[in-house]
Amino acid sequence: MKILVAGAGGFIGGHLIGRLLAQGHTVRAADWKGFDDWWQPDGRCENIRIDLREKSACEAVVQGVDRVFNLACDMGGMGFIESNKALCMLSVMINTHLLSAAQKFGVQRYFFASSACVYNADKQRSPHVIPLKEQDAYPAMPEDGYGWEKLFSERMCRHFTEDFGVATRVARFHNVYGPQGTWTGGREKVPAAICRKVIHAKLTGDLDLEIWGTGEQTRSFTFIDDCIHGVELLMDSDVAEPLNIGSAELVSINGLVSMIEEFAGIKLKRRYKLDAPKGVNGRNSDNTKIQALLKWAPSTRLTDGLAKTYAWIYDQVANNRKCPIY
Ligand code: NAD
Repeated sequence: MKILVAGAGGFIGGHLIGRLLAQGHTVRAADWKGFDDWWQPDGRCENIRIDLREKSACEAVVQGVDRVFNLACDMGGMGFIESNKALCMLSVMINTHLLSAAQKFGVQRYFFASSACVYNADKQRSPHVIPLKEQDAYPAMPEDGYGWEKLFSERMCRHFTEDFGVATRVARFHNVYGPQGTWTGGREKVPAAICRKVIHAKLTGDLDLEIWGTGEQTRSFTFIDDCIHGVELLMDSDVAEPLNIGSAELVSINGLVSMIEEFAGIKLKRRYKLDAPKGVNGRNSDNTKIQALLKWAPSTRLTDGLAKTYAWIYDQVANNRKCPIY
């Protein structure tokens, strides 16, 4: 097939393209970043630098493809999304124009990358979470800004399916992590941020570690290989409703720090920044539905995925490698 990956220069897009090429597909790769800033640019793709908030841009890249993966979004970790709500919401233009173009050009299948940030905040007040089922997104009270954009765009996919017959697939990703993703600059997520801080401590001897919040907030983290496998199964399935793609291995931020300290062989002096953005108190993924429908469950233990991520970030920091910051 000929497949468009929107957001191709990003973390998940880069990994997905590797998989699609390995399967023999032809890939058109689109992102607005300069090619030097793509995580995994691949010369075998038709690489296009373009702003997908523009309708004409979306029509240009969608025309002639069989499938679309929409992974393009102006986003980052909690520090970014809590202070850039308008920017996050502007990504609604990307999905709107890509979906309309998919309808116009009769694309066979359309994938939208949603997020666990769509879930109702009331169900995430305690660190002792009840894992979130797909139905817990309603009544709607998602993360302000970013979560509202994701929920609205999910809804748009649903209605394009119902009213216009565009076949859409929607995944709600839960904290995807792994090598070849943002690890500094303000858009990084918590696993990469903590790896970087611990590595800095190891290399400099400065053992002070700032943790956002009390450290008792809980999350689950999904290794990139498991995420890509889930996306592949979902896209090939006939499941039109949103599905969680997340790990169910719950850990507190303090627990995550302890794991990473072990990789480094050091113990840090933890300092809690209570007024920093920390998101909800607890969140985990209920995978009952995806297990039943797609027989998917993540196979990477957190400690194994984190060890790979730590080793990669260590290489970046120790060798002064560049992390695209935009
Ligand atoms: P990423 O930031 O690494 O990749 C997103 C890419 O989209 C970037 O390369 C960016 O340049 C591109 N982009 C943004 N605006 C664009 C525009 N106007 N035109 C063209 N390209 C544009 O993020 P990621 O981690 O790879 O996430 C991919 C998708 O998955 C996003 O939709 C994200 O919201 C969603 N998601 C990710 C996670 C996670 O933990 N990584 C969790 C939940 C949902």
